[in-house]
Amino acid sequence: LRPSLQTLGTSVFTRLTQLANQHGAINLAQGFPDFDPPAALLDAADNAMRHQFNQYAPSPGLPALRSAIAEHSRRRYGVDYDPDTEVTVTVGATEGIWAAVTALISPGDEAIVVEPFYETYPAVVAAAGGVVRYVPTTFPDFRLDLDRLAAAFTSRTRLVFLNSPNNPGGALLTAEEFAAVAALADRYDAYLLCDETYEHLVYDAAVHLRASAVPGCRDRTMVVSSASKTFSVTGWRVGWVLAPPPLTDAVRRVHQFITFAAPTPLQQAVATALSTGAGSGYFDALRAEYTERRDVLIDYLDRAGLPAARPAGAFFVMARCPDDDERWVTELIRGAGVAAIPGSAFYHDRSGGRDLVRFAFCKQLSTLHAAGARLMGKE
Ligand code: GLN
Repeated sequence: LRPSLQTLGTSVFTRLTQLANQHGAINLAQGFPDFDPPAALLDAADNAMRHQFNQYAPSPGLPALRSAIAEHSRRRYGVDYDPDTEVTVTVGATEGIWAAVTALISPGDEAIVVEPFYETYPAVVAAAGGVVRYVPTTFPDFRLDLDRLAAAFTSRTRLVFLNSPNNPGGALLTAEEFAAVAALADRYDAYLLCDETYEHLVYDAAVHLRASAVPGCRDRTMVVSSASKTFSVTGWRVGWVLAPPPLTDAVRRVHQFITFAAPTPLQQAVATALSTGAGSGYFDALRAEYTERRDVLIDYLDRAGLPAARPAGAFFVMARCPDDDERWVTELIRGAGVAAIPGSAFYHDRSGGRDLVRFAFCKQLSTLHAAGARLMGKE
């Protein structure tokens, strides 16, 4: 293994799912829905497979999907992207992130990652030979500290990872925060990589802002998102990158030699779902269902005596963990039969999230009730 890859261990999601399965625990660890995607989406995929959508798509993505993504961005966030020169379909947001980082980071370049973070970000920077500078945020609201962020910039900074709504913290960035990061990026000639995978999962009065919709941000921003969470198809691996032409060109150069193209029939199905989603009230219904799931889980955590934060977005709840996180989670899986993710997995230094634990609520209410009963020791 190349030296730059030797720090990469097994994904925490793989590890905890294996452990959950071994012990027959309810898996509130890895974030994937345990319910079916919309029937119309499945029909569209079936239909696409039966109507010649079975060979390679054009490397940048099916024109129908690129148009649907651009149209969705314009209607929902008021940001225009040209489907031909500014939209690239990738194999999940993960491939989009890999392609963007590979295109931009040379050995020794620096990237800024806000903690708690999604594990892909530092892994990909390390693989490219880059150096990560961490900016910690803390329980319960995980607000970005702009002074600490500014202090993390150096002459070698190339990239700032932003994730809004945030996995695992649930925080959303404001227009002022995006603008401040973009101003710093301007000064240091760096770029923003904004992971908006959870864009449709926001609660209460929260409003998701597309980074590139904020004045002064568009030119230096790559937005990454995906169908995984919006349509409950984490296994389909359909994601996308929105970026100005020079950045799109950079991403596409890498993308064509990683996967060439994302799965054709699934792209076709997502194109249909994305175009009809807003009109049919799908996004509102999704949000209402997730609000209920969030509230049910928080209620159980409260009753189990675990102080939990109320996330504004995404589908995770962070709670205070009464013991060392790894030890406590292992015991929770073995003893209570519920799996969660130890908080330190989201911080580069073990001490960062050692008193935290992440529970996923992308589950049927019956699953959450069963897990809740186990958490309260009633089963
Ligand atoms: N994004 C999901 C999570 O945070 C799962 C990611 C994965 O399994 N690779 O749980």
